[in-house]
Amino acid sequence: MAALSPDTPVAVIGAGTMGAGIAHVAAAAGHPVLLFDADPDAAKRALHAIAGHLDRAIDKGRMVENEADAVLERIAPVEALEELATAGLVIEAVIENAEIKVGLFKQLEDILEPDAIIASNTSSLSITELAASLARPPRLAGMHFFNPAPVMALVEVIQGLETDSGIAQTLVDTAAAWGKSPVLCKSSPGFIVNRIARPFNNEAIRLLDEGATDVFTLDAVMREAGGFRMGPGQLMDLVGVDLNWDVANAMHDSFFKDPRFRPSRIQAEMVAAGRHGRKTKRGWDDYPEGAETPAPQTAPQADPPSEVTAYGDLGPANALLDRLEAAGVKISRADGPEGHIHVDGHSLALTDGRMATERAAGAEGPNLALFDLALDYGAATRIAVAVADQADPSTRTAVAGLFQAAGIAVSFVDDTPALLLTRTVCLLANFATDAMMQGVTDAAGIDTAMLKGLNYPRGPLAWADTLGAARIVTVLDNLQRLYGDDRYRATPLMRRHAWSGQPFHG
Ligand code: NAD
Repeated sequence: MAALSPDTPVAVIGAGTMGAGIAHVAAAAGHPVLLFDADPDAAKRALHAIAGHLDRAIDKGRMVENEADAVLERIAPVEALEELATAGLVIEAVIENAEIKVGLFKQLEDILEPDAIIASNTSSLSITELAASLARPPRLAGMHFFNPAPVMALVEVIQGLETDSGIAQTLVDTAAAWGKSPVLCKSSPGFIVNRIARPFNNEAIRLLDEGATDVFTLDAVMREAGGFRMGPGQLMDLVGVDLNWDVANAMHDSFFKDPRFRPSRIQAEMVAAGRHGRKTKRGWDDYPEGAETPAPQTAPQADPPSEVTAYGDLGPANALLDRLEAAGVKISRADGPEGHIHVDGHSLALTDGRMATERAAGAEGPNLALFDLALDYGAATRIAVAVADQADPSTRTAVAGLFQAAGIAVSFVDDTPALLLTRTVCLLANFATDAMMQGVTDAAGIDTAMLKGLNYPRGPLAWADTLGAARIVTVLDNLQRLYGDDRYRATPLMRRHAWSGQPFHG
C-alpha cells in the first residue's frame, strides 16, 4: 500500500480546534482540502486561525509567503455534505458524540465513491463500534491527531475489528507522507497514549492522597529528576482536573474496573469542590493573584562529605558516583552491601519498592535513606529521598550534603514505597507491556507514541530496558505486597523479560 497521492481531495468535517489543524496539515502536504462544518461561520474562523499559524511560520523563517498562500488556497470551505463527493479521504473531527459521528458516516456512505476512506479523529470512542452499523465497516478507521495538529507529530492510526488492513496501512503511509509519525494500533480504550499515560496522573494523585509529599514537590521531582516537561499537578490543572476525572473513570469502566485504572477519591472531592484547574483559578494550585507557584520542599544546605564508600554496582545510579567524583568528593570502592553508598556511618541505596523503614529493620541498619530514580543521574537537578523511621536525624544532613555536593537538590518525602519517579516509571512500563500483550501495538509503536504524543523524555519501554525488567518486577512485587493491591501486579510479559533478560527493543 502507498500513501494517497497529493492530488487526492481530502475532506475535513468539523472545523473546530482539531479540524482546522488537520485541514492545515493536509493542505500543507499538497492535497486539495474541502472543509465542512454544521456551523457556517466555523470554516471562516478555521481559515483565519490557519492564516495566523502560517503568518507565524513566515515570521520564524520556516515558510515563504508564496507557500503560505498556496496552503490557504488549497482549502475550500463547503456548505453541504454533498459537496464532499470527490473526496478520497474524509477525516471527521466533529464533537465527541457517537450518534452524531455515525449519522454523518451513514450520510457519507451515500455521497462518497465506494472506495473512499472515512477516518475519525475521535479521542475515546471505539472505532469498531462506530463502524458496526455502516454499510461498509472495513472502510472506516481512526486517525487520531494530537493538539495542535500542525505541531504534534503523533498520529494514532486505529484499526477497528473490521477495518481493512490495507486501508489502515494507507493511512499510516499517508500520515508519514504528511511529515507525521504515525503508529498503527488496535481499537481499544484510550488507544495507545491515553491508556499508557494513566499512571502518570493516577499514581500521582494516590501519592498525594497518602501524603507522600505536596504537589509542588511532586511536580518538581518529575521535572527535575524525571525530565518530564510538566509535573502531574501542573498538567492536570492545565488540561482540567474534571476532564481528567472523566477520562480516568471512563478508562476504569472500560477495563471492567481493573484496579490498575482505579482513580482516587481525593480527585472526586476536588471536582465536587470546583477545583478544576486553571480554568476555575483553583486546582492543585490555588493560583493566588500575583503569586508565583510555591517552591518545592528542598533540604537546607549541608556540609559536603569528605569521603564516601560505594559498594558494588549502583546500576542505573552509577553516573551519580562520577558526578560526585567530578565535584571533588573522594570515592572509595569496596566489596560489601551491593548497590550502597556509605557516608559517615549512614547508608544510602536506590529504592527497590520496599520502604526504608522495612529495610532498616533488617541487615542494612537503622541509618538508612533511599533515593529515587532519575532520568539521568549525570544531569538531574533534584532527587527525592526517604529516610527510615529508625534513622538518626543526622542521616538527613549527611544524605543532603552528599547530593548537594553533586549539584542535586534534595526533596525529602515520606517513607513511601517506590517513592515518586520510580513508582511512576515502573507503572508506565508495566502499562506499556499490558497494552503490548493485548496486541494494541508493539514496543516501537508504544515508545514512538509516548515520545511524539506527550513529549515524554524517554519511551517507557526504552526506560524499562535501561533499568532492566527484573528491577521493575522487584519494585512492582514490593508495591503489590505492601498495598495488597492487584493494581501493582506485574504483567506476565514484564516477568518474561525479567527472566530472559531480553530487552524490549532488540
Ligand atoms: P471543537 O468543539 O473545537 O470542534 C467541533 C466542531 O464540530 C465545531 O466547529 C462544531 O460546529 C462542529 N460540528 C458539530 N456537529 C457537527 C456536525 N453534525 N456536522 C459538522 N460539524 C459539526 O472540537 P475539537 O476539540 O476540534 O474535537 C473534535 C474531535 O477531535 C472530537 O472527536 C475530539 O474528541 C477529537 N480530539 C480532540 C482533541 C483536542 O485536544 N481538542 C485532540 C484529539 C482528538
